[in-house]
Amino acid sequence: MNVVVDLNRCQGYAQCAFLAPQVFTMHGEEALMYTPVVPKGQHERVRRAAAACPVQAILVGEEAGVGGR
Ligand code: SF4
Repeated sequence: MNVVVDLNRCQGYAQCAFLAPQVFTMHGEEALMYTPVVPKGQHERVRRAAAACPVQAILVGEEAGVGGR
């Protein structure tokens, strides 16, 4: 499972960092860093983070990139 954050959209609300801190972390006020390949066990958290993002900046891809893994 892959994740992409549209950083032009991201307003630094940090909802995602709160819900999935192993994947999304805030650096400073608005700089978001994230792990594009979501580790197993974090999928549900990342889905929740994507749903919670107030500006829908988080795109979750099930197949994008790593096929089947
Ligand atoms: S929840 Fe959305 S707007 Fe907030 S930091 Fe994460 S990606 Fe950015």
